Amino acid sequence: MTKIHLHRGDLPSSLDLGPVIAVDTETMGLHPMRDKLCVVQLSAGDGVAHIVQLERTYHCPNLKALLADPDRLKIFHFARFDIVMMNRWLIVDCAPIFCTKIASKLARTYTDRHGLKDVTRELVGTDMNKAQQSSDWGAEDLTPAQLQYAASDVLHLHKIRDALMVMLDREKRTELAQACFDFLPVRAELDLQGWDQSDIFSHGA
Ligand code: MN
Repeated sequence: MTKIHLHRGDLPSSLDLGPVIAVDTETMGLHPMRDKLCVVQLSAGDGVAHIVQLERTYHCPNLKALLADPDRLKIFHFARFDIVMMNRWLIVDCAPIFCTKIASKLARTYTDRHGLKDVTRELVGTDMNKAQQSSDWGAEDLTPAQLQYAASDVLHLHKIRDALMVMLDREKRTELAQACFDFLPVRAELDLQGWDQSDIFSHGA
């Protein structure tokens, strides 16, 4: 059974999650201007998940300081969505970032299966239960199933990153991946300013 700590409103100021932290978010939906950020999950990679249930005021100085701390690497799977949401609702620029989905796309060119469930199955050997993905994350009291699901999304990201770093190095794409991670804040800003559906690098519209 996973060890889960639920924090209401903010992380405790005494908590030190170390230099590399897995992060995920749960929201009311997929539209950043419409759908509120509800939950931020974090793990130091030690099998323990810290789940912050945000209040609608988004007064969470400890969490915001950690997300913006230049000395703490934040690992996400599909960071683009999470940093758009955190930018929009927490007014925080999250950095530095490692995105396991980008790393997977650059390293695992033998497949088009880059969802967290598929990547976790192949690189960690664990099957994830995604049943609670679409549930009411704005509820006052999250269910045990929701907490377990939210936790599971951050528990394997350190191992996944380790495996993908080996593959990126082997394929000589470590620097390319880093350049993509460094571009993520710009990608998020494009999403927020209305270019979310278009690729400004493409020849077409
Ligand atoms: Mn999630």
